[in-house]
Amino acid sequence: MTRELCCPVCGAKTNTSGARFVSEWALASHVAGSIRGGERLHISWAKHNAPNIDLKQSVPRLAEDLMWPIKEAGDSPNQSPTPTVRDAPPAIDVVTAAKLGEWRRHIVQLVGALDPTGRRPDEGVAARIGRLSREGKIPRQIVAMMRTVTETRNLAEYESKVLSATESQAVSAAYAAVQEWASTVNMPFGEGR
Ligand SMILES: [Zn+2]
Repeated sequence: MTRELCCPVCGAKTNTSGARFVSEWALASHVAGSIRGGERLHISWAKHNAPNIDLKQSVPRLAEDLMWPIKEAGDSPNQSPTPTVRDAPPAIDVVTAAKLGEWRRHIVQLVGALDPTGRRPDEGVAARIGRLSREGKIPRQIVAMMRTVTETRNLAEYESKVLSATESQAVSAAYAAVQEWASTVNMPFGEGR
């Protein structure tokens, strides 16, 4: 009997070309490829489950090193000991650093549009948002939402923070609130994507 192989990190049963994982090697290559491609969920999994493995080596070497930790994760006791076809875990829409970077750009553009001539030399986006709030151009609750997006982006970008599902929902909601406010004051938002 063959067990259907499924990624212990993201629950995928197929590689990016849609082919099912025919071997543990194919599955390990998927995890290694995702790590080398910068996918944060798989990187974070490897850091926790295989802390001694060099994540910067080539995909085949990395896949070779990951075979055992992946097999161990697949064989963990909280899973059925008999070969079964398991359903993939529910997909978690994790907000990536790239997405946060895009959202931050939209906020920077919005702030620029609200304050076309006012920028002081060397004034960062956080300081500028604070000043516009004091000048009454951005309501305080929207300032809080903007900061949620920009500060979360900084953590993801500079400290490689991987967001949990709940944190992803929170920052998505904050971004949506900024977007909604921009439309109520007729400011363009998220253009030039
Ligand atoms: Zn995966």
